[in-house]
Amino acid sequence: RFYSRLAMSKTNEKTDSNYDYDYFVIGGGSGGVRSSRIAAQHGARVALAEDKKLGGTCVNVGCVPKKLFCYASHFRELFHDAHSYGWPKIDMNYNDHNWKQFIENKNAEIQRLNNAYEKTQKDNNVEIIKGHATLKNQNTVIVNNKEYTSKYILLAVGGHPIVPNIQGREHIITSDDAFFLEKLPKNILIVGGGYIATEFACIFNGFGCDVTLILRGKTILRSFDEDVQAKLTEELKKSGIHLRYETEVERIEKLSDDSYSVKFKNDTKTINTNLVMFAIGRQPSTQNIGLEKIGVKINEKSIIEVDDYSQTNISNIYAVGDCTDRKALTPVAIQEGHYLANMLFNNEQPRKVDYDTVGTTVFSEPAIGTCGLTEQQAKEKYGSDGYDVYESTFKPMFAQLPKRDRKSYVKLIVEKNDQQRVVGIHLMDHSAPEIIQMCSVAIRAGATKELFDHSIGIHPTSAEEIVQIR
Ligand code: FAD
Ligand code: NDP
Repeated sequence: RFYSRLAMSKTNEKTDSNYDYDYFVIGGGSGGVRSSRIAAQHGARVALAEDKKLGGTCVNVGCVPKKLFCYASHFRELFHDAHSYGWPKIDMNYNDHNWKQFIENKNAEIQRLNNAYEKTQKDNNVEIIKGHATLKNQNTVIVNNKEYTSKYILLAVGGHPIVPNIQGREHIITSDDAFFLEKLPKNILIVGGGYIATEFACIFNGFGCDVTLILRGKTILRSFDEDVQAKLTEELKKSGIHLRYETEVERIEKLSDDSYSVKFKNDTKTINTNLVMFAIGRQPSTQNIGLEKIGVKINEKSIIEVDDYSQTNISNIYAVGDCTDRKALTPVAIQEGHYLANMLFNNEQPRKVDYDTVGTTVFSEPAIGTCGLTEQQAKEKYGSDGYDVYESTFKPMFAQLPKRDRKSYVKLIVEKNDQQRVVGIHLMDHSAPEIIQMCSVAIRAGATKELFDHSIGIHPTSAEEIVQIR
């Protein structure tokens, strides 16, 4: 496999007349769109099959509509707080919001993006084939009963939400449905404590709905730094979100059109609610596309196994994004797809994605930004005495006049040796998503604590705390 990869990258054979295409990409989401476009820009003959809408999860039912939901839901607090800044007093609730209008506007924006994606792909000579693609053999893809041959094939099929097999599962909504609700619920029960559950708890709470978060474990955001978990939990509670720990839904019964009774496994207290949403992770869309037939290795969770350069065990078939077991984030899928197209069609050396320094954000209220090692990971890597922690908890300036009980948090994890490299940065602040991007550059560049200490802050901002903590 190593030699075949090297041969591919060295010979740079862009076109091969034995096949209809040089590159057949299955899935027009973040990874597939980027990879197909870059390959075509390098001169390859490229087809892109998509069975739903171009842009994939991110554009249609992920990052983009989610961020619009965050903006929309935050206005209620802003309207309220504006009073302390001299504006008229405006207190709003969930039923004051024009949900129908907002969803129409959101849909129009997504449609604009779908069209823009289609135009960009076409302008770059990517042939778009609409329909569900399956593999016939390692060089043949079938879409709408038509066969297409290709030298290389990319699987960029993404994933979809997991729905548990419990009694009443037909009443469950997932994030896919939340983006198209006909109306805002007065109250909602959300199961899960990951990115999606936490973000949607804040979104619905922001709109003024009554939110209960159901956790099977002891914490939200289990893979994040423990201090961040604890600080954000405090903020969620203060903002009125109810949290119920170490419990799982046993069954859901419909009481009326928008009323459900939820029963729990180890808890006799039933909850009645208008809506039940599950956000308990996603599974790759790798079923029924012929992977087993041609022997592409998938693991017990149906995740496609790939090496550091996105190659599967079948030498001309690659996979990127959420259908592989790396970081399920849009910019990661994009970079995997981009590097792959460069390697296959631009004679570039195979390049690994640096997963350790990926910055990520939870768009909660306040938001979380994180990059590098958590304290738990630093302890495992360097031992209890091998790292230093610098932290600061403060009230963000905006919250002062409205007397809002809101906290921000900054935590730096630093290697304890001569170099003192900063190896982890964890933030909780409304601006955290914007700040953490540059932190990821600093960590990647190997910035030391001394470098942070001698950098001049920007005042007055939350970001200045990062260079001022001693
Ligand atoms: P996808 O974007 O899922 O694209 C796969 C595409 O393949 C889909 O369009 C699908 O229809 C198509 N497809 C599948 N099978 C076939 C087939 N057989 N034939 C033809 N087409 C097929 N990430 C962030 O970085 N930031 C965020 O803020 C963020 N927010 C998110 C919020 C939500 C609610 C969700 C669900 C995800 C969010 N993500 C976010 C994650 C991000 O959306 C994904 O990591 C990213 O979209 C993965 O890209 P992908 O190319 O692997 O797959
Ligand atoms: P996550 O993996 O983030 O979280 C899953 C959550 O569901 C965990 O809290 C987990 O609990 C819980 N859970 C798992 N199984 C069960 C079960 N059977 N019953 C009850 N709870 C369960 O998944 P999400 O669905 O939230 O998001 C999927 C991925 O999409 C994310 O990992 C992220 O990569 C991406 N994403 C990124 C966003 C961003 O960048 N802002 C936003 C949204 C999604 P436990 O801790 O106990 O395992």
